[in-house]
Amino acid sequence: MTNNKLELVNVTKVFTSRTNQQTTALAKINMKIPDHRFISIIGPSGCGKSTLFNIISGLMESSEGDILVDGKSVSGMSGIVGYMLQKDLLLPWRTIVDNVILGMELKGIPKKEAKKIALPLLAKYGLGGFENSYPSQLSGGMKQRAALLRTILYDRDIILLDEPFGALDAQTRSVMQEWLLDLWDDFQKTILFITHDIDEAIYLSDEVYIMSARPGGIKEHLSIDIPRPRKPTIVTSSQFVEYKEKALSLLSDEVQKSQKLEEVVSK
Ligand code: ADP
Ligand code: MG
Repeated sequence: MTNNKLELVNVTKVFTSRTNQQTTALAKINMKIPDHRFISIIGPSGCGKSTLFNIISGLMESSEGDILVDGKSVSGMSGIVGYMLQKDLLLPWRTIVDNVILGMELKGIPKKEAKKIALPLLAKYGLGGFENSYPSQLSGGMKQRAALLRTILYDRDIILLDEPFGALDAQTRSVMQEWLLDLWDDFQKTILFITHDIDEAIYLSDEVYIMSARPGGIKEHLSIDIPRPRKPTIVTSSQFVEYKEKALSLLSDEVQKSQKLEEVVSK
């Protein structure tokens, strides 16, 4: 028996190009994630973060290694986790409520029933009055909220979010962070969250995984022992700043390495 909700064992991904050139994108990734945790993953651009989520979600096969959910292998299986892709777009021809119930529809829940579940949540999470609007009529933050709600309502224990707030301005981002923490608390999910924002990673998470430059591996794993609920002002506390310094120095080593790698490749 295991106490981990999700476990990655030596997950490795090698891409083979049409000219048979091999690139190792991920090398032996190991993670043990207990239930109901909020986990962030940060790492230099191109280190394989999105690839890792594609593999966990079953959209892409790993080259080696295993993925366990509740102690059972789910490698290559799709539909086990909820996944919001890096560029997860709402369908422009569907209204907001119809977009939000998409995951439930795919699971075979009748539309009427799905709407009954979704409508109060749209109201609770700041989208009341926009149920019948189309995505083009909403602000960036509202669209992200709708996409997140859609992912949550797919109703899986594990949710993968790939840089969901990357395109938002700082003000909207901070509102969205509070909103996501509420959602996490209400729905008791295990969340894996990719971000390039160190403050965001520390503020939201129980644990922060720092990935190394290509081939992507786990460089270090920080436990963030700051009690919850956390106030946004904790980012100025000495404890927070200490975590930030640690994460920054680990990350800047890796960013330098990945830039050197790019210089070599482009020569
Ligand atoms: P990140 O999300 O950390 O920025 P990605 O996971 O998108 O990084 O990409 C990691 C590496 O794998 C990159 O070098 C990228 O070019 C390569 N890669 C990603 N997807 C594919 C693919 N389908 N085929 C070939 N190479 C890929
Ligand atoms: Mg990515």
